[in-house]
This record gives sequence, C-alpha cells and structure tokens, in this order.
Amino acid sequence: MTPPRLRLFVAADLAPGAGIVLPREQAHYLANVMRAAVGEAVLAFNGRDGEWRAHIGALGKAAATLVLDAQTRPQAAEPDLWLLAAPLKKDRVDLVAEKAAELGAAALWPVMTRRTGIARVNTDRLRAHLIEAAEQCERLTVPALMPPLALDTVLAGWDAARILLFLDEGGSGPPLAAVLPGLPDGPLAILVGPEGGFAPEERAALARLPFARPVSLGPRILRAETAAIAALAVVQALKGDWNRPVRG
Ligand code: SAH
Repeated sequence: MTPPRLRLFVAADLAPGAGIVLPREQAHYLANVMRAAVGEAVLAFNGRDGEWRAHIGALGKAAATLVLDAQTRPQAAEPDLWLLAAPLKKDRVDLVAEKAAELGAAALWPVMTRRTGIARVNTDRLRAHLIEAAEQCERLTVPALMPPLALDTVLAGWDAARILLFLDEGGSGPPLAAVLPGLPDGPLAILVGPEGGFAPEERAALARLPFARPVSLGPRILRAETAAIAALAVVQALKGDWNRPVRG
C-alpha cells in the first residue's frame, strides 16, 4: 500500500475508532492547500501514541475531522539530544529549526549570548517550522521548543547529568568525533554560538562547568547554522539513532 501523502501532528489522544476534530489551520491545509477529499487516508501522530492511519471524516474550509483506523507504528524511544542555539536572522533560524527536527533533536532552545544580535525570537513561527518538518520527515515526535533565555540563566539551571557539547570556534576543544565515543550514554546537548561567536568571558565560564565539553568542528569557521547541522549529524551518526534503518 502506498503511504498516504498527508501526515499530520495532532494534539488529541490516538486510539482505535477515535474521531478527532482538527483545528482551523489544519482544515485549511487539507482543503485548500492539499485539495484533499473526504475518505482520503492521513497518517497522524501526537508524540505519545505512535503513528496511526486515519481517514478524513468530514472536510470544510474551516473544519475537518479525522477518523482513526489502525496504528501503523508504536511510539519508540528517541535520542535525548538538545540543540541550544543563539538566534539568527529569520531565514537562518528557520533553517536551523527545520534541520533540527529532521536530524532528530528532542528540543530546540534559543539562548541569548553576549554577541547575539537578535533581540526577539518568533516562537510561533519556529514552532510551526518544527511541526512541519516533523510531519514531513516521518518522526513520531515534534521537538520541544524551550523558552528563549539568556545563556547564563540556562547554564545556572542546568541538570549536570546532561553533557553540553560546546562548539568552540576558538579551538579549545578536541574534534567532536573524537570526544563522542568516550562519553557515557545519556542525555546530550549541543551549544552553538551566534554569528559573532562566543565572548571570551563566556568561553571562560563554560570551561569551568563540569558538564560542558568544548569541541571542534575542524579547521574552517562555519556559519552558525552550518555548525548546528553538522554537529547534529555527527552526534546522530556516532552516538544517536543513525544505526537504525529508515522508518525503523
Ligand atoms: N565570528 C566568529 C565565528 C562564529 S561562527 C569568529 O570569527 O570567530 C558561529 C558559531 O558556530 C560559533 O560560535 C561556534 O559555536 C560554531 N562554529 C563555527 N565553526 C566552528 C568550528 N570550526 N568548530 C567549532 N565550532 C564552530
């Protein structure tokens, strides 16, 4: 059976025979963007109950319902990997959100650093990107979007069990791929700086934290969004779930 072309993240609990009323934006997406029809198959997930095959029960321009048929995949554990990133300009931060979702980040946390040039983060837009990318890449969860906070505040409340891989363009750390095999299995986070890089006092403060590990991404200075994407890929390949098959 060809997989449905429609895949939706929903808030409701998913159970056999359940009917789900979709919010207005999803009704609009189905009716006007995708030109879907009553009866068409949809895959649904909510981050808790796995993935379900459903069909459209009713569809108008402003209202739609799904009827659940059967579970297609059970909920499965995912890598506990967070991405902390200083906010960037619109296009670039949108790219980071989309790629973080595709690359399996469990959470995206915008953190304000000394040299962050962006004062405001549009969390509604970022969340929409996270959801859209999660729907498209077939993951079973949507990355959590943490509230934007100052880096100092985030570090002051940090759970020391989560190792923070601090991408240091200053070169104070060993290569990321050399550090990963020696880490215990457990929660991880990646910290990427802003376009202006980390301030010396931030680097010094991070160096004093027992849970923070400076790491390098090689001899070239990468743009922040490139560094975030590259680091997520290396962690997923060496310590994450890239040993699992597609749709596994
Ligand atoms: N303007 C800064 C560069 C900032 S790059 C300068 O000229 O020094 C933006 C962020 O990407 C950095 O803060 C760092 O977190 C990450 N980054 C870029 N290249 C890197 C590298 N080679 N190794 C580790 N981190 C890197």
